[in-house]
Amino acid sequence: MLARKLDLIADALAQGTGAAIAVRALETGRRKGLRIWFNDLDEKRGPVAELKPHGLKSHGVSLGFGSFSAQVLEQISDASPEDIQLARSLVKSVARSAEIDIPGQSVDEWLVQDGGFRIEARYRHDHTLPHEDESLTETCREVIIPLMAAMAELIGYDVVEDPSASLTPEVEGGLSRATVSRRERNPRNRLLCLRIHGAYCGCCGLDPESRYGHAGSILEVHHLEPVSMLEHPRPYDPETDLIPLCPNCHRAVHTRRPWPLTPHELAAYMEEAGHA
Ligand SMILES: [Zn+2]
Ligand SMILES: [Zn+2]
Repeated sequence: MLARKLDLIADALAQGTGAAIAVRALETGRRKGLRIWFNDLDEKRGPVAELKPHGLKSHGVSLGFGSFSAQVLEQISDASPEDIQLARSLVKSVARSAEIDIPGQSVDEWLVQDGGFRIEARYRHDHTLPHEDESLTETCREVIIPLMAAMAELIGYDVVEDPSASLTPEVEGGLSRATVSRRERNPRNRLLCLRIHGAYCGCCGLDPESRYGHAGSILEVHHLEPVSMLEHPRPYDPETDLIPLCPNCHRAVHTRRPWPLTPHELAAYMEEAGHA
């Protein structure tokens, strides 16, 4: 596999997980594979994903922990319920297109309890062959990136907190501004959101990658806060409470404070203005 393609895979992994990721090609004749791990942890002290051909049409991906992972496992045991919920949603999003097995645990309710934790996935390629570079890239996008993002969330990479906001929390309907903006800035939430809703703006329909090509990775995550939540608060769910918006529509919904416009309300304004 070309170094340039490996770089593209590493970039996509970094964007999806919010962490620096190392990628190495494994190659024995036509049996091509990849080995992927967190740069700062190396292959022994953290989660490692390995992609290998499986049968004629599939890739097998196996994610496990290196033998010196005690410290990172300790860190993972401190993950908050919200981190765990997002990690599980990311794994569930893989289960829509791949077969997933977490030995000894259910795919919906798993926990990383010790270094023996493993996730096994099979991803079938119907239109390309497993040894083609295109297939490797697709398996990374559909399986490895979300699995590594789930691990990154549990490890707690890049938790962007605003200390001033947490000292004087502005609370609305039980939800602080800091919580909302932390959720909107989390790269793993963005990944989940795009996997669930597709890579286009939930308001104006803009597909930035088709307009801006390689510079089109600009969709943002918006946290829906329907006013009805004030009267009927319900538990947060990253699968339903986040939607992708283009930067313009995102700015526009937040012109109303404290409760942002709903995408529906913004769409109605756009129609009034003659742009829908
Ligand atoms: Zn838009
Ligand atoms: Zn927002």
